[in-house]
Amino acid sequence: MMWSSSFDLHCHTTHSDGSLSVDELADEMAKQQVSVWSLTDHDTIAGWDEAKQAAGERGIKFVPGVELTCDVELPWNNEILEANSRNRPPSSWHLLAYFPYDPIPEGLHKFEQWLSPLHEDRVPRMLEIIDKVNAFGMEIDAEDVFSRAKGSVGRPHLAMAMVDAGHVKTMDDAFEQWLGDGRPCNVERPKPSLAEASALVHAAGGITSLAHPRYYGVDYETLIQHLKASNVDAIEAFHRSHSDDERHRLWKLAQTYGLAITVGSDFHSFRGGHRPGNMPVVVKSLPELISSA
Ligand SMILES: [Zn+2]
Ligand SMILES: [Zn+2]
Repeated sequence: MMWSSSFDLHCHTTHSDGSLSVDELADEMAKQQVSVWSLTDHDTIAGWDEAKQAAGERGIKFVPGVELTCDVELPWNNEILEANSRNRPPSSWHLLAYFPYDPIPEGLHKFEQWLSPLHEDRVPRMLEIIDKVNAFGMEIDAEDVFSRAKGSVGRPHLAMAMVDAGHVKTMDDAFEQWLGDGRPCNVERPKPSLAEASALVHAAGGITSLAHPRYYGVDYETLIQHLKASNVDAIEAFHRSHSDDERHRLWKLAQTYGLAITVGSDFHSFRGGHRPGNMPVVVKSLPELISSA
């Protein structure tokens, strides 16, 4: 059985919430001896062209990717969340999508048209949330919030601003009292389902993989059965946050149900000693689109 540490299929740049530019990340991938790399910024494919060029210059194979923010589709179990040290219920499920180097043009065009409102809505939504926070008497300057986000803005940036302004003690308090799902200042938008997103990705010749399955508080077997029913192709069994034991368990379950697995560092920045790559995975369990890249 061939194992390889040269795949990294999950990472972020300044096109979403990462702290490195595409070029800086490509340098790091090369340094960590990653030879098959996918860039998966949140809800945007804006980095693809730069990344294709950067990967090519460094002799790295590039897989166009994106991490899609989808709906929560199964109820979470608080005990499982706690066991996985998640202090908050999931507000969305993340679906990784991978495409051939040259996706099917009509399919890709449709996918892009579907994707762009999901991405472009981030700013108006944040402005609405800030309005609500202000209406509760907590003064927050929108510019301050946006200046904290290098790429796309999100609720953690606002939570930081609320802490610094002294409106709440911690970021967790900001979410628990005000910003979390179902809390008074959150603004919810409809999110796509896994099945809808997967159908669009398939039409462009791509495949999908559920990101970081341990974040959702769902029993793995139930989760994998749901993925199967939603036409999701793979599961990110080898995510950086998973213990060896968890990787093994997910890998075996995926085999039982005929799903492929993917591997990803979910690299955002060097904070906490993070680095991309360096995650051994069984090559034949990867989706064919990846193993044959
Ligand atoms: Zn994610
Ligand atoms: Zn991610």
